[in-house]
Amino acid sequence: MGILIKNIDALPSADGPAALGVDIGIDGDRVAFVQKSGSPLPPGFAAGRTIPGAGRLAIPGLVNAHCHAAMTLLRGYADDMELETWLFDRIFPAEAQLSGDDIYWGTMLGAAEMIKNGVTCFNDMYLKMDSVAEAILGSGIRAAVSVGPLLTGKRGDAGVDADSCKAFFRKWDGAGGGNIRTNMEIHSIYLFQPETLAAGARLAKELGSAIHIHILETAAERENMLREYGKSSVLLAEEYGLLDSPVIAAHCVHVDSAEILRLRDRGASVAHNPSSNLKLASGIAPVPEMLRAGVNVCLGTDGAASNNSLDMFMEMRLAALLHKGASREPAAVPAAQAFRMATRNGALALGFEDCGEIAPGRKADITIVQLDRPHLSPLHSHLSTLVYSARGSDAETVIVNGKVLMENRELLTIDEEKTTHMARAAAKKFIASQ
Ligand SMILES: [Zn+2]
Repeated sequence: MGILIKNIDALPSADGPAALGVDIGIDGDRVAFVQKSGSPLPPGFAAGRTIPGAGRLAIPGLVNAHCHAAMTLLRGYADDMELETWLFDRIFPAEAQLSGDDIYWGTMLGAAEMIKNGVTCFNDMYLKMDSVAEAILGSGIRAAVSVGPLLTGKRGDAGVDADSCKAFFRKWDGAGGGNIRTNMEIHSIYLFQPETLAAGARLAKELGSAIHIHILETAAERENMLREYGKSSVLLAEEYGLLDSPVIAAHCVHVDSAEILRLRDRGASVAHNPSSNLKLASGIAPVPEMLRAGVNVCLGTDGAASNNSLDMFMEMRLAALLHKGASREPAAVPAAQAFRMATRNGALALGFEDCGEIAPGRKADITIVQLDRPHLSPLHSHLSTLVYSARGSDAETVIVNGKVLMENRELLTIDEEKTTHMARAAAKKFIASQ
């Protein structure tokens, strides 16, 4: 039995107009049809569940293309400092205390927050990834999970743990009805020695894996790499073979024009994290230049320790506004572009090619936004309202892979009260150590 969303307005993708007063049919895990409301149902389709759509807007679920979900545990733990101090003096020591259980509840809290903010899919990189994947599986959200086989880091003698990486891929790739994909984490160029990075690149090629990496988040990274190697992290990544695999490069704040073209030519996607870059005083990524060059730019929140929220509506609005102000060009990142970055571009970057649009045959990952609210009225343009006025808390119902995960703001797969309680308990150890 399918799901019928009745008489709803929709923005099926960033590339077309709003569809007014349509019925959306979901059969199994996919969208079966989008048609004028009241038209006869296609033969063979039976609605087991009907969701009223009047006064609401259906959009493709938002895709958070760079996140560390369990960092919700560190939300508000270390603020108002630049990345190096924040990461090495505060975050890494705190993370060393986290157990698998802590990370499970931190990820569950992140999944709860994202679903409540209309996110249907995210790209995660963290520690103890089996615990992360368990939480994702339980929540029903879609995610790409990156496991890091490079050992040690911070330039200590490292090595590559290929066996546990392969075991993780075997266990989790395609799990949850295809909701979970596995990728390889290479945290960053600056944490590892060249031979370790090259070995990681070879392993990614062997496994056919995408690589999720932080690149040139700070000016300090650029300066350090240039001083030590005579090249920035983009060119080093290419030299070590990392760009031979599909790459999701988070940040890319301090890339130059030649490096932008290199990223484009090698098919890398860039995950833009405007809130995190502003909060850590890292700078403003040259997103309009990347878009003009044809780079696939998607959008992420980064972790809740550097944002401090996982609200992709806020990120979409900020991405649209920030680059206008920075360039004094009002069309630098138009609303449609921000919407595309938060949906289809993210889905493509993560390898979920069937996601990021509402169309027959696509995966049924849909967020329903309640429009009948003072701050969303009147309604001159669905797109403007969505990008410039809506908030995460306007997401009313969220469907992932044809399954309703939230209905009327109530989470159906996650025990919100228990999750919040367990995550608070896990976070207490940081308060104690402060
Ligand atoms: Zn990050």
